[in-house]
Amino acid sequence: MSDDCLFCKMARGEIKPDTVYEDEKILAFRDINPQGPVHVLVIPKEHIPTLNDLEEHHAELLGRMFLVAKKIAEQENFAETGYRTVINCNRHGGQEVFHIHLHVIGGRQMTWPPG
Ligand code: AMP
Ligand code: ZN
Repeated sequence: MSDDCLFCKMARGEIKPDTVYEDEKILAFRDINPQGPVHVLVIPKEHIPTLNDLEEHHAELLGRMFLVAKKIAEQENFAETGYRTVINCNRHGGQEVFHIHLHVIGGRQMTWPPG
């Protein structure tokens, strides 16, 4: 946990996001600036700043984050039509919040390459 981290504050319940899923280790909530009809962020409750900080013992946690992404896609009815999952890392990746999060964006046609 990090005292001044926005997503840790959400994980602790000090700030209440628009939550779509929660369990003991994971929280998922709607992005405040959605990049599609549906844009959810899936976070671990543990403070992990970036992908570069992942360690072996986080492997199951990351797997669980993707299982939550799949569940959200089913709940939001775009599992079959498709969706995008993204984890941005550091400056060139466009990371702005330094608590690892999986973007789940759906409900529109995505393009490639990303900007
Ligand atoms: P990233 O650029 O990958 O670090 O993504 C950070 C994401 O957090 C952006 O999509 C922001 O819109 C989102 N965000 C920032 N503050 C909040 C907030 N208070 N509630 C929900 N999403 C937020
Ligand atoms: Zn944090």
